Amino acid sequence: MPDFMTLDDLAFDGKTVLLRADLNVPMKDGAVSDTTRLVRLIPTLNDLTSFGAKIVILSHFGRPKGKRDEAYSLRPIAAALAKVIGRPVAFASDCIGPVAQEAIAAMTVGDILVLENTRFYPGEEANDPAFAQELADLGQVFVNDAFSAAHRAHASTAALAHLLPAAAGRLMEEELSALSRALEHPLKPLAAVVGGAKISTKLDLLNNLTASVDYLILGGGMANTFLAAQGFSVGKSLHEPEMLETARTIMAEAQAKGCEIVLPQDVVLAPELKADAPLSLALATQVPASQMILDLGPLSTEDVKGKIFACQTVIWNGPLGVFEIPPFDKATNAIAVYVAEQTKKGKLLSVAGGGDTVAALAHAGVLTAFSYVSTAGGAFLEWMEGKALPGVEALRHKED
Ligand code: AMP
Repeated sequence: MPDFMTLDDLAFDGKTVLLRADLNVPMKDGAVSDTTRLVRLIPTLNDLTSFGAKIVILSHFGRPKGKRDEAYSLRPIAAALAKVIGRPVAFASDCIGPVAQEAIAAMTVGDILVLENTRFYPGEEANDPAFAQELADLGQVFVNDAFSAAHRAHASTAALAHLLPAAAGRLMEEELSALSRALEHPLKPLAAVVGGAKISTKLDLLNNLTASVDYLILGGGMANTFLAAQGFSVGKSLHEPEMLETARTIMAEAQAKGCEIVLPQDVVLAPELKADAPLSLALATQVPASQMILDLGPLSTEDVKGKIFACQTVIWNGPLGVFEIPPFDKATNAIAVYVAEQTKKGKLLSVAGGGDTVAALAHAGVLTAFSYVSTAGGAFLEWMEGKALPGVEALRHKED
């Protein structure tokens, strides 16, 4: 049994459900340019409908800074949701007060209503109890399906969950159980693949991983800082000279905790960051002063695959090279494809997420071949950092 409440734990028949969703979708020229987040709401909407609920959707959109601003209205997104699910979706131009109350009073079982952007009120981001109470007064049950907003203690993600019976929606449930199987209760050995530009933005993440994984596989710009910390020249490569001591501390702690840090053995070099720059290969310990490291080399790629072969679980955040500029996408692609193959064979549970990782895996063509790819960004990273997420904590089974 999951240690948080799900749709299976509460009664919905005839009830008005406040469903916190993430309708913060990308827009271009006034239209939704990527409907992934809307599509992923369908299982929860279908289940709540079959359980006999009236569904009232709450969400933020953009950063209107606590004031009404039509540029951040959820109205066009409610229309896009209707198209995606093939059902009518009503819209109310306020998320509290008489406008919201009247729209809800007009609903019958199975109806879906989107309320206006919760961030039009300063109480949302302030996690204000009075604002949360005004939201709570609109319904009888709270369901949170916005894992991507769960790292924020806001009224509609945190305070509200303490005012009504609360449960995770299907999307949140799927995300939490994938994450739990990857890091809290993984099959071992467990590898973390961490790339990206810098150590400084991923310190908490690295420290948390050294305490829990068997292999910490490093690539991208951040591996350069680890190479430099061991006294090797990294030429013109992106690295953080002020982080060398930190990198040494991370390596010492990893060793003390039985976590093997896997650094690049060979690297792809170019004198500048350009697609048509002349390429060369070198051992990671022999990078000429005139060159920059832009990807892992073939030896490193095989080494990483070997480590992953030995593992039952892998968590991935960050590209291993400058994947946006081929040919520096080669190692990221090859290793992503390998993880996908092992996953398909049933030999590996693979979970990835955070920022550029989704773009890198999409570029490698394996987005749907991993066990789970989280599109949650900040919340996924905070989970990898081992932090408690307020929106998730609020859904845990209560003692009483
Ligand atoms: P992050 O947001 O920290 O995950 O960093 C992602 C960025 O790291 C991507 O834009 C990559 O192009 C970049 N990156 C990966 N490897 C390198 C490298 N060797 N040198 C410079 N940038 C890199």
